[in-house]
Amino acid sequence: MQIRAQDIVKSFPGARRSALEGVSLNVGSGELVALLGPSGGGKTTLLRIIAGLDLPDSGKVFFGDEDASEKSVQERRVGFVFQNYALFKHLTVEDNIGFGLDVRDRAQRPPKAEIRRRALELLDLVQLKGLEKRRPSQLSGGQRQRVALARALAVEPRVLLLDEPFGALDAKVRRELRSWLREFHARTGHTTIFVTHDQDEALELADRVAVLNGGHIEQIGTPDEIYDHPATPFVNGFIGESTAISAHLREGQVFLGDHRLELPKANRLATSSDGEGQLFVRPQDILIGEEGPGALQAEVLSVRRSGPTRRAEIALPYEQSSIEVDTPASVTFQPGERVPVRFLRGTFFLKADAAGAAAH
Ligand code: ATP
Repeated sequence: MQIRAQDIVKSFPGARRSALEGVSLNVGSGELVALLGPSGGGKTTLLRIIAGLDLPDSGKVFFGDEDASEKSVQERRVGFVFQNYALFKHLTVEDNIGFGLDVRDRAQRPPKAEIRRRALELLDLVQLKGLEKRRPSQLSGGQRQRVALARALAVEPRVLLLDEPFGALDAKVRRELRSWLREFHARTGHTTIFVTHDQDEALELADRVAVLNGGHIEQIGTPDEIYDHPATPFVNGFIGESTAISAHLREGQVFLGDHRLELPKANRLATSSDGEGQLFVRPQDILIGEEGPGALQAEVLSVRRSGPTRRAEIALPYEQSSIEVDTPASVTFQPGERVPVRFLRGTFFLKADAAGAAAH
Protein backbone atom coordinates (compact mmCIF):
# COMPACT_ATOMS: atom_id res chain seq x y z
CA MET A 1 0.00 0.00 0.00
CA GLN A 2 1.39 3.37 -1.02
CA ILE A 3 1.29 6.05 1.70
CA ARG A 4 1.39 9.75 0.99
CA ALA A 5 1.55 12.56 3.53
CA GLN A 6 0.96 15.93 1.91
CA ASP A 7 1.90 19.35 3.35
CA ILE A 8 1.39 18.29 6.94
CA VAL A 9 1.38 21.16 9.44
CA LYS A 10 1.00 20.49 13.15
CA SER A 11 1.38 22.80 16.14
CA PHE A 12 0.90 21.92 19.78
CA PRO A 13 -0.64 24.47 22.12
CA GLY A 14 1.94 26.62 23.87
CA ALA A 15 4.84 25.53 21.64
CA ARG A 16 7.09 28.24 20.21
CA ARG A 17 7.19 26.72 16.76
CA SER A 18 5.32 24.08 14.80
CA ALA A 19 6.20 20.43 15.36
CA LEU A 20 5.73 19.95 11.59
CA GLU A 21 6.05 22.84 9.17
CA GLY A 22 4.54 21.49 5.95
CA VAL A 23 6.00 18.02 5.56
CA SER A 24 5.39 15.83 2.51
CA LEU A 25 6.41 12.21 2.34
CA ASN A 26 5.77 9.55 -0.26
CA VAL A 27 6.26 5.92 0.70
CA GLY A 28 6.02 3.34 -2.07
CA SER A 29 4.18 0.08 -1.74
CA GLY A 30 6.39 -2.44 0.07
CA GLU A 31 9.00 0.18 0.85
CA LEU A 32 10.84 0.42 4.18
CA VAL A 33 11.35 4.09 5.04
CA ALA A 34 13.17 5.43 8.09
CA LEU A 35 12.32 8.76 9.70
CA LEU A 36 15.65 9.83 11.14
CA GLY A 37 16.57 12.95 13.06
CA PRO A 38 17.45 14.58 16.33
CA SER A 39 15.14 14.65 19.30
CA GLY A 40 12.20 16.99 18.75
CA GLY A 41 12.57 16.88 14.97
CA GLY A 42 8.96 15.78 14.48
CA LYS A 43 9.41 12.06 13.71
CA THR A 44 6.88 10.72 16.19
CA THR A 45 4.38 13.45 15.37
CA LEU A 46 4.52 12.57 11.67
CA LEU A 47 4.13 8.86 12.41
CA ARG A 48 1.15 9.48 14.70
CA ILE A 49 -0.52 11.61 12.03
CA ILE A 50 -0.03 8.90 9.40
CA ALA A 51 -1.49 6.40 11.87
CA GLY A 52 -4.51 8.57 12.62
CA LEU A 53 -3.64 8.91 16.31
CA ASP A 54 -3.27 12.69 15.87
CA LEU A 55 -4.90 15.04 13.40
CA PRO A 56 -2.83 17.61 11.52
CA ASP A 57 -3.76 21.33 11.55
CA SER A 58 -3.62 21.11 7.76
CA GLY A 59 -2.48 18.68 5.12
CA LYS A 60 -3.69 15.29 4.00
CA VAL A 61 -2.79 11.63 4.32
CA PHE A 62 -3.49 9.22 1.46
CA PHE A 63 -3.48 5.42 1.63
CA GLY A 64 -3.19 4.45 -2.01
CA ASP A 65 -5.69 6.68 -3.84
CA GLU A 66 -7.94 6.96 -0.84
CA ASP A 67 -7.93 10.17 1.21
CA ALA A 68 -7.55 8.75 4.73
CA SER A 69 -7.26 12.14 6.45
CA GLU A 70 -10.63 11.85 8.19
CA LYS A 71 -10.42 8.12 8.88
CA SER A 72 -9.93 6.52 12.27
CA VAL A 73 -6.95 4.36 13.21
CA GLN A 74 -9.08 1.22 12.75
CA GLU A 75 -10.32 2.32 9.35
CA ARG A 76 -6.77 3.04 8.20
CA ARG A 77 -5.76 -0.48 9.22
CA VAL A 78 -2.28 0.29 10.49
CA GLY A 79 -0.15 -1.87 12.75
CA PHE A 80 2.07 -0.21 15.34
CA VAL A 81 4.98 -1.08 17.49
CA PHE A 82 6.27 1.38 20.03
CA GLN A 83 9.50 1.50 21.94
CA ASN A 84 8.11 0.26 25.24
CA TYR A 85 6.44 -2.78 23.70
CA ALA A 86 3.46 -2.47 26.10
CA LEU A 87 2.39 -6.08 25.99
CA PHE A 88 -0.35 -7.05 28.42
CA LYS A 89 1.48 -8.59 31.37
CA HIS A 90 -1.38 -10.81 32.48
CA LEU A 91 -1.99 -12.31 29.02
CA THR A 92 -0.05 -15.13 27.41
CA VAL A 93 1.95 -14.49 24.25
CA GLU A 94 -0.82 -16.08 22.22
CA ASP A 95 -3.54 -13.93 23.77
CA ASN A 96 -1.42 -10.82 23.36
CA ILE A 97 -1.13 -11.48 19.64
CA GLY A 98 -4.82 -12.25 19.26
CA PHE A 99 -5.89 -9.25 21.31
CA GLY A 100 -6.57 -6.93 18.38
CA LEU A 101 -8.89 -9.50 16.82
CA ASP A 102 -10.55 -10.50 20.07
CA VAL A 103 -11.68 -6.96 20.90
CA ARG A 104 -13.34 -6.41 17.53
CA ASP A 105 -17.09 -5.88 17.25
CA ARG A 106 -18.99 -9.12 17.36
CA ALA A 107 -19.75 -8.92 13.63
CA GLN A 108 -16.06 -8.70 12.70
CA ARG A 109 -14.61 -10.90 15.42
CA PRO A 110 -13.28 -14.20 14.11
CA PRO A 111 -14.19 -17.34 16.09
CA LYS A 112 -11.84 -18.23 18.98
CA ALA A 113 -10.30 -21.16 17.12
CA GLU A 114 -9.53 -18.91 14.16
CA ILE A 115 -7.90 -16.29 16.41
CA ARG A 116 -5.75 -19.01 17.94
CA ARG A 117 -4.77 -20.35 14.53
CA ARG A 118 -3.78 -16.86 13.37
CA ALA A 119 -1.80 -16.18 16.55
CA LEU A 120 0.20 -19.39 16.13
CA GLU A 121 0.80 -18.64 12.47
CA LEU A 122 2.13 -15.20 13.35
CA LEU A 123 4.26 -16.62 16.13
CA ASP A 124 5.80 -18.86 13.53
CA LEU A 125 6.32 -15.88 11.23
CA VAL A 126 8.27 -13.97 13.90
CA GLN A 127 10.17 -17.17 14.67
CA LEU A 128 8.92 -17.68 18.22
CA LYS A 129 7.11 -20.96 17.78
CA GLY A 130 6.60 -22.84 21.03
CA LEU A 131 6.45 -19.75 23.27
CA GLU A 132 2.68 -19.22 22.97
CA LYS A 133 1.87 -20.03 26.60
CA ARG A 134 4.53 -17.80 28.13
CA ARG A 135 3.83 -14.46 29.75
CA PRO A 136 5.76 -11.35 28.65
CA SER A 137 7.85 -11.46 31.85
CA GLN A 138 9.23 -14.83 30.72
CA LEU A 139 10.60 -13.43 27.44
CA SER A 140 13.77 -11.55 26.56
CA GLY A 141 13.47 -7.94 25.38
CA GLY A 142 14.08 -8.96 21.78
CA GLN A 143 11.44 -11.69 21.97
CA ARG A 144 8.92 -9.29 23.48
CA GLN A 145 9.54 -6.89 20.64
CA ARG A 146 8.86 -9.64 18.11
CA VAL A 147 5.63 -10.53 19.93
CA ALA A 148 4.68 -6.84 19.66
CA LEU A 149 5.32 -7.04 15.93
CA ALA A 150 3.22 -10.20 15.62
CA ARG A 151 0.43 -8.43 17.51
CA ALA A 152 0.65 -5.48 15.11
CA LEU A 153 0.42 -7.88 12.17
CA ALA A 154 -2.60 -9.75 13.54
CA VAL A 155 -5.06 -7.16 12.26
CA GLU A 156 -3.64 -7.53 8.72
CA PRO A 157 -2.43 -3.96 8.58
CA ARG A 158 -1.97 -2.13 5.31
CA VAL A 159 1.09 -0.44 6.73
CA LEU A 160 3.43 -1.07 9.66
CA LEU A 161 4.45 1.91 11.77
CA LEU A 162 7.32 1.38 14.17
CA ASP A 163 8.36 4.08 16.64
CA GLU A 164 11.89 3.43 17.92
CA PRO A 165 10.97 -0.25 18.06
CA PHE A 166 14.35 -1.31 19.39
CA GLY A 167 15.07 1.79 21.43
CA ALA A 168 14.83 0.21 24.86
CA LEU A 169 17.09 -2.74 24.08
CA ASP A 170 20.81 -3.16 24.57
CA ALA A 171 23.18 -2.72 21.63
CA LYS A 172 23.68 -6.40 20.84
CA VAL A 173 19.97 -7.28 20.83
CA ARG A 174 19.30 -4.16 18.76
CA ARG A 175 21.74 -5.30 16.11
CA GLU A 176 20.21 -8.78 16.06
CA LEU A 177 16.68 -7.43 15.73
CA ARG A 178 17.83 -5.03 13.04
CA SER A 179 19.02 -7.81 10.75
CA TRP A 180 16.00 -9.86 11.73
CA LEU A 181 13.65 -7.02 10.71
CA ARG A 182 15.43 -6.56 7.39
CA GLU A 183 15.04 -10.23 6.62
CA PHE A 184 11.45 -10.19 7.86
CA HIS A 185 10.62 -7.23 5.62
CA ALA A 186 12.19 -8.93 2.61
CA ARG A 187 10.08 -12.01 3.35
CA THR A 188 6.73 -10.30 3.99
CA GLY A 189 7.01 -7.04 2.02
CA HIS A 190 4.87 -4.83 4.28
CA THR A 191 5.01 -1.12 3.61
CA THR A 192 6.86 0.03 6.72
CA ILE A 193 7.72 3.39 8.23
CA PHE A 194 9.97 3.40 11.25
CA VAL A 195 11.25 6.14 13.49
CA THR A 196 14.78 6.12 14.78
CA HIS A 197 17.41 8.58 15.94
CA ASP A 198 20.11 5.97 15.29
CA GLN A 199 21.71 6.69 11.93
CA ASP A 200 23.34 3.26 11.64
CA GLU A 201 19.96 1.66 12.10
CA ALA A 202 18.38 3.90 9.47
CA LEU A 203 21.18 3.51 6.91
CA GLU A 204 21.41 -0.22 7.36
CA LEU A 205 17.70 -1.02 7.31
CA ALA A 206 15.85 1.43 5.16
CA ASP A 207 15.26 1.54 1.42
CA ARG A 208 15.04 5.31 1.85
CA VAL A 209 15.74 7.63 4.74
CA ALA A 210 13.91 10.89 5.47
CA VAL A 211 15.98 13.20 7.67
CA LEU A 212 13.69 15.35 9.83
CA ASN A 213 14.96 18.38 11.66
CA GLY A 214 13.04 21.18 13.32
CA GLY A 215 9.72 20.14 11.78
CA HIS A 216 10.82 19.87 8.18
CA ILE A 217 12.42 17.25 5.96
CA GLU A 218 16.01 18.14 5.15
CA GLN A 219 16.46 15.33 2.66
CA ILE A 220 14.86 12.09 1.51
CA GLY A 221 17.00 9.57 -0.28
CA THR A 222 18.57 6.14 -0.35
CA PRO A 223 21.20 5.50 2.33
CA ASP A 224 23.91 6.06 -0.32
CA GLU A 225 22.42 9.38 -1.43
CA ILE A 226 22.11 10.58 2.16
CA TYR A 227 25.62 9.53 3.09
CA ASP A 228 27.50 10.45 -0.09
CA HIS A 229 25.45 13.42 -1.26
CA PRO A 230 24.07 15.21 1.77
CA ALA A 231 21.79 17.98 0.51
CA THR A 232 22.22 20.40 3.40
CA PRO A 233 24.91 21.26 5.95
CA PHE A 234 22.64 19.80 8.61
CA VAL A 235 22.51 16.38 6.94
CA ASN A 236 26.24 16.55 6.37
CA GLY A 237 26.86 17.20 10.04
CA PHE A 238 24.25 14.75 11.30
CA ILE A 239 25.14 11.69 9.21
CA GLY A 240 28.53 10.14 9.71
CA GLU A 241 31.49 12.21 10.73
CA SER A 242 32.70 15.27 8.93
CA THR A 243 34.79 18.36 9.48
CA ALA A 244 33.74 21.74 8.14
CA ILE A 245 36.64 23.74 6.69
CA SER A 246 36.33 27.42 5.79
CA ALA A 247 36.75 27.69 2.04
CA HIS A 248 35.48 29.66 -0.92
CA LEU A 249 34.21 28.88 -4.36
CA ARG A 250 35.56 30.75 -7.39
CA GLU A 251 34.48 29.85 -10.90
CA GLY A 252 33.36 26.43 -9.73
CA GLN A 253 36.65 25.67 -7.97
CA VAL A 254 37.12 25.27 -4.22
CA PHE A 255 39.92 27.32 -2.64
CA LEU A 256 41.46 27.22 0.81
CA GLY A 257 42.98 30.70 1.05
CA ASP A 258 44.76 31.09 -2.30
CA HIS A 259 45.26 27.37 -2.72
CA ARG A 260 43.06 25.66 -5.27
CA LEU A 261 41.95 22.17 -4.24
CA GLU A 262 41.79 19.52 -6.93
CA LEU A 263 38.67 17.71 -5.86
CA PRO A 264 38.07 14.64 -7.99
CA LYS A 265 34.99 14.56 -10.19
CA ALA A 266 33.06 12.33 -7.79
CA ASN A 267 32.86 15.30 -5.49
CA ARG A 268 29.59 17.15 -5.45
CA LEU A 269 29.18 20.85 -4.92
CA ALA A 270 25.90 21.78 -3.34
CA THR A 271 25.99 25.16 -5.00
CA SER A 272 26.99 26.67 -8.30
CA SER A 273 27.41 30.33 -7.38
CA ASP A 274 30.70 31.71 -6.09
CA GLY A 275 31.28 32.86 -2.54
CA GLU A 276 32.50 32.10 0.95
CA GLY A 277 31.39 28.89 2.58
CA GLN A 278 32.41 25.62 4.05
CA LEU A 279 33.80 22.43 2.63
CA PHE A 280 32.60 19.34 4.53
CA VAL A 281 34.98 16.41 4.39
CA ARG A 282 34.87 13.02 6.04
CA PRO A 283 37.96 11.56 7.76
CA GLN A 284 38.04 8.67 5.29
CA ASP A 285 37.95 11.00 2.28
CA ILE A 286 41.24 12.70 3.11
CA LEU A 287 44.55 11.23 1.99
CA ILE A 288 47.76 12.12 3.78
CA GLY A 289 51.35 11.28 2.96
CA GLU A 290 50.94 11.08 -0.82
CA GLU A 291 51.86 13.89 -3.21
CA GLY A 292 49.42 14.62 -6.00
CA PRO A 293 47.42 17.35 -7.71
CA GLY A 294 46.12 19.98 -5.31
CA ALA A 295 48.08 18.65 -2.32
CA LEU A 296 48.50 20.99 0.62
CA GLN A 297 51.28 20.76 3.18
CA ALA A 298 50.02 20.08 6.70
CA GLU A 299 51.49 19.25 10.07
CA VAL A 300 50.61 16.07 11.96
CA LEU A 301 49.55 16.97 15.49
CA SER A 302 48.73 13.54 16.86
CA VAL A 303 48.02 9.98 15.79
CA ARG A 304 45.99 7.36 17.64
CA ARG A 305 44.71 3.90 16.96
CA SER A 306 41.01 3.80 16.18
CA GLY A 307 39.69 0.28 15.58
CA PRO A 308 41.00 -1.08 12.28
CA THR A 309 42.49 2.28 11.22
CA ARG A 310 44.56 5.13 12.63
CA ARG A 311 43.12 8.53 13.24
CA ALA A 312 45.46 11.47 12.69
CA GLU A 313 44.83 15.05 13.70
CA ILE A 314 46.42 17.49 11.33
CA ALA A 315 46.79 21.27 11.12
CA LEU A 316 46.09 22.76 7.69
CA PRO A 317 47.48 26.06 6.51
CA TYR A 318 44.69 28.68 6.13
CA GLU A 319 42.57 26.90 8.74
CA GLN A 320 42.36 27.75 12.43
CA SER A 321 41.25 24.42 13.77
CA SER A 322 42.68 20.96 13.23
CA ILE A 323 41.00 18.27 11.15
CA GLU A 324 40.77 14.50 11.55
CA VAL A 325 41.97 12.00 8.98
CA ASP A 326 41.72 8.21 8.78
CA THR A 327 44.77 6.30 7.63
CA PRO A 328 45.42 2.57 7.31
CA ALA A 329 46.83 1.06 10.50
CA SER A 330 49.94 0.01 8.55
CA VAL A 331 50.87 3.65 7.96
CA THR A 332 52.40 5.59 10.80
CA PHE A 333 53.09 9.29 11.05
CA GLN A 334 54.91 11.10 13.81
CA PRO A 335 53.60 14.21 15.52
CA GLY A 336 55.42 17.22 14.09
CA GLU A 337 55.91 15.55 10.69
CA ARG A 338 54.93 17.58 7.62
CA VAL A 339 52.77 15.66 5.16
CA PRO A 340 50.98 16.35 1.87
CA VAL A 341 47.18 16.31 2.20
CA ARG A 342 44.63 15.73 -0.56
CA PHE A 343 40.87 15.77 -0.41
CA LEU A 344 39.24 12.98 -2.37
CA ARG A 345 35.68 14.05 -1.85
CA GLY A 346 33.84 16.82 -0.11
CA THR A 347 30.69 18.87 -0.22
CA PHE A 348 30.83 22.63 -0.43
CA PHE A 349 28.04 24.79 0.94
CA LEU A 350 27.87 28.54 0.58
CA LYS A 351 27.58 30.47 3.84
CA ALA A 352 24.13 31.68 2.79
CA ASP A 353 22.92 28.07 2.32
CA ALA A 354 24.34 27.08 5.67
CA ALA A 355 22.71 30.07 7.37
CA GLY A 356 19.41 29.22 5.68
CA ALA A 357 19.53 25.63 6.83
CA ALA A 358 20.52 26.61 10.36
CA ALA A 359 17.65 29.09 10.61
CA HIS A 360 15.04 26.34 10.33
P1 ATP B 1 12.18 12.16 19.79
O1 ATP B 1 13.31 11.54 19.02
O2 ATP B 1 12.68 12.86 21.02
O3 ATP B 1 11.04 11.25 20.05
P2 ATP B 1 10.74 13.38 17.60
O4 ATP B 1 11.54 13.73 16.41
O5 ATP B 1 9.91 12.16 17.54
O6 ATP B 1 11.63 13.38 18.89
P3 ATP B 1 8.28 14.73 18.21
O7 ATP B 1 7.99 13.84 19.38
O8 ATP B 1 7.49 14.52 16.99
O9 ATP B 1 9.81 14.66 17.84
O10 ATP B 1 8.13 16.23 18.68
C1 ATP B 1 8.23 17.34 17.82
C2 ATP B 1 7.98 18.62 18.61
O11 ATP B 1 6.62 18.65 19.03
C3 ATP B 1 8.81 18.74 19.86
O12 ATP B 1 9.19 20.08 19.99
C4 ATP B 1 7.88 18.32 20.96
O13 ATP B 1 8.21 18.96 22.17
C5 ATP B 1 6.54 18.76 20.44
N1 ATP B 1 5.46 17.87 20.91
C6 ATP B 1 5.27 16.59 20.56
N2 ATP B 1 4.15 16.08 21.14
C7 ATP B 1 3.62 17.07 21.88
C8 ATP B 1 2.46 17.19 22.72
N3 ATP B 1 1.62 16.16 22.87
N4 ATP B 1 2.24 18.37 23.30
C9 ATP B 1 3.07 19.42 23.11
N5 ATP B 1 4.17 19.39 22.36
C10 ATP B 1 4.45 18.24 21.73
